[in-house]
Order: sequence, then C-alpha cells, then structure tokens
Amino acid sequence: MVTVGRFRVHLVSDGSFAMDGGAMFGIVPKPLLERRIPADERNRIAMGLHCPLAEDGKTAVLIDTGLGERLSEKERDLYRVQRRGGLRARLAELRIDPEDVTDVVLTHLHFDHLGGAVVRNAAGRLAPAFPRARHFVQGDELETALYPVGERLAAAYAHAPECLEPLQGAGLIERLAGETSITPELRVLVTGGHTPAHQCPVLTDGGMGFVHLGDVAPTRAHLRPAWNQAYDLDPLETTEAKKRLLSRAEEEGWWVSFDHDHEIACGRLAAGWARTGGLCESHALDPRGRLP
Ligand SMILES: [Zn+2]
Repeated sequence: MVTVGRFRVHLVSDGSFAMDGGAMFGIVPKPLLERRIPADERNRIAMGLHCPLAEDGKTAVLIDTGLGERLSEKERDLYRVQRRGGLRARLAELRIDPEDVTDVVLTHLHFDHLGGAVVRNAAGRLAPAFPRARHFVQGDELETALYPVGERLAAAYAHAPECLEPLQGAGLIERLAGETSITPELRVLVTGGHTPAHQCPVLTDGGMGFVHLGDVAPTRAHLRPAWNQAYDLDPLETTEAKKRLLSRAEEEGWWVSFDHDHEIACGRLAAGWARTGGLCESHALDPRGRLP
C-alpha cells in the first residue's frame, strides 16, 4: 500500500497472465529484449494484472478490472492465466465488498482491463461486478469498442459488447469527453496511442500524486519512450504521450503505477528513466497478486 494524502492506495491484482514478447515490445529486437525479460518456450513473457484501489473511508476508486472470469479454458491456456480467485478475492482480503467500490476508471476497453467489470451470476449470465460503481470511460473509446471499424479493431474489441451490455443496462457507464476532473482529487488525462482514447487516471492529494500508466507504459521496461507494444494503434503517439506524462510525474514526484509489470506495482522515477527505465523507489504487488 502507498498513501497519497488522505487516500490509501492498495496495490491489488487480478493475477497474472502471459503475452507474446514480440507483441508486447513491437520493434525492440529480440536479443535486446531477452537479456532483460525472459520468455517461456512459447515466447510468452510474464505479465501482471495490477488494478490499484484508492480509498479514503468514503470513496473506493478502482482503476481497471483485469481479465475477470469470462475467458474460456482455451484462452486461459493461451494466455497462461493464473488468478487464484482474482481481484475480488484480493479485495475480500482487504475487507472490501464489491458493493463498496464507488468508482471504476477504465483506462481503455481491451479484454485484460475490462473483463473483470463483469461476473457470472447464479443464472450464468454476465452481470456488473461492482454494481454500485460509476464506470468512467472515454466516449470515443466506448464508440470504438462498440462499433469497431476494420478487422484490427473488430478483433481487439471482440469481447467488448458482452462486457459492456450489463454495465450499460444497469446505467453504470459514465462517458467522458477528453481530460476531465472526476472529483477534486481524481482526474483523467487522455493519451491515445495504444487505443484511440486511452486515458490515465491521476490521483493527487496533500501534495502527493499517483498516476496509473495503463498500457502507455505497461511495465518498467516500457518506460523507455521508444519501447512500445505492437498492439499500439499509433506508437508515435504513445511515445509522445509517454514523454509528456512521465516528465510530469518526475517533476511532481508522483508514483507511477504499472498495469502489467509482473513484479512491481508502482515506483518513483529515477533520474535518467528515459534511458534506463529505472525507478528510485518501488513497491511490489501485494504478495498474493504476484507470480509464484
Ligand atoms: Zn493491457
């Protein structure tokens, strides 16, 4: 846990999975990558599913929701999914009930960020996992997910209708249009790059700050501005957004929080981070969220 003013930010996780190393690092040459990030026999690298939760006794803000429980057995094998009860079990360990979550901020609507926003109910149908929470998403991201144009977007958002429909049906979706202050302490910055309207939530209070980097810099290795995912729709936009956001985080001394690093949940940037990807202070994921 880290504190940001009056907020306690719990470093909880939906578990771990694995993705193709080439897809996660785009143009980075494999020999360079291999030295830093080991891949398994299927060229997959270990990834976390970090979903930080900030609470102050009155509000509980969850950032992203992980994979959730909707994947098929084949998909769980393909992505080497290990959840051990997932996010909801980790929240239960913190004595946080799904009904206590007041706000969910979704960086974007890919399956590994949106999937945990729904759960299967007793009737086997998908229902909101956090039934009292407002779910904040950029309007442009929602449009893209629901009405994808072209094969690439259609594949990237194939899961989205079945996840979004229960949330929309319950009136839980709040569409945002660009940079927005959700509360005096919580705002979102739109980065684009990875998806058309990818957003990063920033929490500030009492002179402290915390930014969740989502898929703009999903792991420590991605702190280097040119180390981007092949999944990025516009890697040049990611590079520019990353430089802007991380320079700001360094200036202000904010915690930077990683969605998919399999060991480190958040840290503070060390001088020279753009070259080394280094942190001067870091916090591991809460123990049960880590890989074995
Ligand atoms: Zn992701």
